Amino acid sequence: MNVALSKVVTGLQSQLDFQLRLSLDDRFIREINAVEASEFNIQGAVKKVEKRMILSFSYEGSLTFACDRCLTEVKLNFEHMAERILTFEISDEDVLVLTKQEVDICPILEEEILLNLPSQILCGDECKGLCPTCGKNLNKGICGCDHERIDPRLEALKNVFNN
Ligand SMILES: [Zn+2]
Ligand SMILES: [Zn+2]
Repeated sequence: MNVALSKVVTGLQSQLDFQLRLSLDDRFIREINAVEASEFNIQGAVKKVEKRMILSFSYEGSLTFACDRCLTEVKLNFEHMAERILTFEISDEDVLVLTKQEVDICPILEEEILLNLPSQILCGDECKGLCPTCGKNLNKGICGCDHERIDPRLEALKNVFNN
């Protein structure tokens, strides 16, 4: 979703405020292994500072994932601030180079979500996961399977003694 910048670029306004409701792309939702996403509320401003512009916005929304261990759905809320420096001149600095007098908020929001995505998504720190044998969710009770794990090194020793 684009924010038109011409009023700031031409100097007609020194600051432009904007508000958006943005739906994340299905491709992105699949890429990050989310089950579903809410709309994101975005509130921001673009300010002209000499030849450049500063874009800052806050975003708020939620994404639902499957727990890494037991696959129960986990809803994560995202509520953060983002800032980018916008310019029309090619630069080595960490700036966003624009080709038109508008800026697309979608890829910036995607970058921000990726930055704030936890490396592991669990329904709780104590999640016991699924039984590797029968697939039962062990948070809901134990199953009849034998869960005693034998260290593979000990297993090798055991075989030595048995032979
Ligand atoms: Zn879990
Ligand atoms: Zn089991």
